[in-house]
Amino acid sequence: MSEYCKYCGKSYPDARTLLNNSCPLHPAGRGNHVLFEGAQSGPFICIHCGEKRTELRPLVTNRCPRNPDGRNHEAFEGNPHGPFRCKFCGRPYPDIRTMVTNRCTKNPERGGNHSPAR
Ligand SMILES: [Zn+2]
Ligand SMILES: [Zn+2]
Ligand SMILES: [Zn+2]
Repeated sequence: MSEYCKYCGKSYPDARTLLNNSCPLHPAGRGNHVLFEGAQSGPFICIHCGEKRTELRPLVTNRCPRNPDGRNHEAFEGNPHGPFRCKFCGRPYPDIRTMVTNRCTKNPERGGNHSPAR
């Protein structure tokens, strides 16, 4: 069994080694890998745009057109098979893409979209 970094998708045999090594794709510019806490079997889905990949690495190493921070796709860490619920308004959706491409009136960021709760 291996552990994956949520930012770069690199895998390590154990969480401890992962957390003790620096991550080349850390959002803060520098920092160590962070444990991906979602299901390791995929599919892996981006919480910003709904892009879906069978592996974590090709998802998180590519730029996301909808990530507000201008970074890469960010993998959803909840159940990838849904149902998905918006963390701001609680509205359920059968798939993440439909959810995140629609505006949420409860999103504290004005004009922001729905975002899946874990
Ligand atoms: Zn990493
Ligand atoms: Zn994305
Ligand atoms: Zn919502």
